[in-house]
Amino acid sequence: MGSITRDCPHCHSRNNTFTAFANIKDPNYQTNQTYLTAFSCGSCCGGYFAKIKLHAAGYPVNFPGDIDKNGNMSIMEEYPKPITLETPQYLPTNIESFFIQAAESLNNKNFDASSMMSRKVLEVAVKSLNPSESGNLYSRIEQLHSQGKITDDLKDWAHIIRDDGNEAAHEAEPVNLAFADELLSFTKLFLLYTFTMPEMVKNKKGLSENSL
Ligand SMILES: [Zn+2]
Repeated sequence: MGSITRDCPHCHSRNNTFTAFANIKDPNYQTNQTYLTAFSCGSCCGGYFAKIKLHAAGYPVNFPGDIDKNGNMSIMEEYPKPITLETPQYLPTNIESFFIQAAESLNNKNFDASSMMSRKVLEVAVKSLNPSESGNLYSRIEQLHSQGKITDDLKDWAHIIRDDGNEAAHEAEPVNLAFADELLSFTKLFLLYTFTMPEMVKNKKGLSENSL
C-alpha cells in the first residue's frame, strides 16, 4: 500500500506514516487520471486525503512505498492541513512545552485542560522571571509589578489568567471555546512581553553596537 510521511493534524505527532486505504477516481479529470486517496495516521488512525495524479496505470492505493518518491504519481492537493502553532520566541524550554500543550489542548477541543495549562504557563513564567521570591501566585505577580518588571496592564492580564485558570481547575461547569481561547491569548501576550520582546531588544541592541 502507498504511504506518505506528514505531521498529523489530529494527534500532532511529527513525521508520521499515513497509509493509503482507499481511492476514488475524480471524474473532473479526463486526461490525467486523478484519484482522491484516503490515508490513516499510523499513530491515531486519523484520516487524511490527497488528490493524486497518476502518470502510469494502476491505483494510488496499490503502489507500494513512499508516494512522494514515486515518479508515477504527483500529489496535487491534500487536507486537513496540520494547524501550525505560533509559539512566542525565546521561551525557556519548559515554558514553551507547557504553552504548546495549552495550544494543542485547545485545538483538540479539550478546553478545561487548555485553561489549566494556560494558568500553569503563567505560574512557571512568573517563577522564572523572579526566582528569588516566594509566596503564592497572587503575591508573586504583585511582587513582579512592584519591582517594575511588569507594567500595570501586564499585572492585570496576569491576574485574569490566574483567576480564570483557577476557575477552570475548580468549577464543576466545563469551560467553553471562547473562554479557553481568550485565556490562551492572554497567556501568549504575557509571554511576548516578558520573554520575547526583551530578547528581541537585546539582539537588536547587540546588532547596532556591533555596527558602530
Ligand atoms: Zn495522528
